[in-house]
Amino acid sequence: MKVYKFGGASVKDANAVRNLYSLIKDENSELIVVVSAMGKTTNRLEHIWEKCISQKQKNAIHELDKLSLFHSEIINNLNLSQDEKLDVKLKSYVNELKEIIKNYKNENHALIYDQIVSFGELFSTTIISHFLNQNGKNNTWLDARKLIVTSDHFQEARVNWDKSQKNIHESISNQGKVYITQGFIGANKDGQTTTLGREGSDYSAAILAWSVNANEVVIWKDVSGLLNADPKLFKETEQLFKISFKEAIELSYLGASVIHPKTIKPLQNKGIPLSIRSFLNDSQKGSVISNNGENDRDIPSFIFKPNQLLISISTKDYSFIFEDHISELFRLFAEVGLKVHLMQNSALNFSICGHIKTPLLPKLLSSLNEKYVVKYNEKVDLLSIRHYKDFELPEIVKNQEILIQQRSRSTIRYVFKK
Ligand code: ASP
Repeated sequence: MKVYKFGGASVKDANAVRNLYSLIKDENSELIVVVSAMGKTTNRLEHIWEKCISQKQKNAIHELDKLSLFHSEIINNLNLSQDEKLDVKLKSYVNELKEIIKNYKNENHALIYDQIVSFGELFSTTIISHFLNQNGKNNTWLDARKLIVTSDHFQEARVNWDKSQKNIHESISNQGKVYITQGFIGANKDGQTTTLGREGSDYSAAILAWSVNANEVVIWKDVSGLLNADPKLFKETEQLFKISFKEAIELSYLGASVIHPKTIKPLQNKGIPLSIRSFLNDSQKGSVISNNGENDRDIPSFIFKPNQLLISISTKDYSFIFEDHISELFRLFAEVGLKVHLMQNSALNFSICGHIKTPLLPKLLSSLNEKYVVKYNEKVDLLSIRHYKDFELPEIVKNQEILIQQRSRSTIRYVFKK
């Protein structure tokens, strides 16, 4: 059994969906295909959620209509507009979403986020499943909310491995079939939709692979494999052809966006290799992440995370920042889904650089302000260089002010202000 994962860029329009078809049509072994939302759909659904929070329901509905149109155009281009079952299914999703938007009161923001944003994957997999069936690649569409059981941590749900594995075994028969399912989404024990964190579809692929003891996971991307820097930001990049699971975890912890940070652990635990390959050119070699760590230190990697929040916290009465403060602070961070990427502390001060969804920043600040003196900078940049050798600071951060610098034997990290 293999697991293929297709991200948003690989299903962004009708041609991309045809390309997905050509990549899987000759696969004869059992295959689970995990698909993200099409193109920028998740960002657009996030905007709809933000509109709901600021009580702009009409705008939210207007944006939803535009998003449905985007999907209808893809359906037309795929010659699926006569497919009545598809039409009924998608209309019912849109209506469900409209109801959520209209009935939105100032409830649990994170819960509603998951109810809204999860539709991106439901749209994409439904369309793709119908397209494949229409073109002779018979497949079974599976609702990931009936497979992946999670905690109630909306926006960043944790997986119940035993229950998920049981559901997956019951639904996936291992009989040479092709299954299509959604990345990123699951459900809690009460059946409420949850999400696994942005870019979480890689993680879904790993959960499924772990559950069925897959031979391999392939993540299809718009780059030839794992690169040592983001080619959109850095002029010269090199491919990391082979790295170990351990190295991949370190890189994704530093913020390398190639794979979702939680993806590696389940694969490592069962020794399932992960390949990253180009959906634009499947004859290219790709990169493989496995137990083999021989080449881990060959090439330095540059990981740049723009638009981070730098927040410095001190006590109001000049008392030291102790462990109990720190545990309280982390509880507050977890409550608002703040992802910590770097920490630094002194006797009186605790600073973190991380990412928070903008609408949740005021909530964090008001909880912190009750007890602490808080200073913060939005939109700082975080650069990490792993396995650094002699290097010059890359162009992208030249002439910026360095606010924090941290150096270990393997990694240098900087926080910059423009
Ligand atoms: N669609 C979700 C996102 O954009 C999950 C994913 O693509 O992995 O974050």
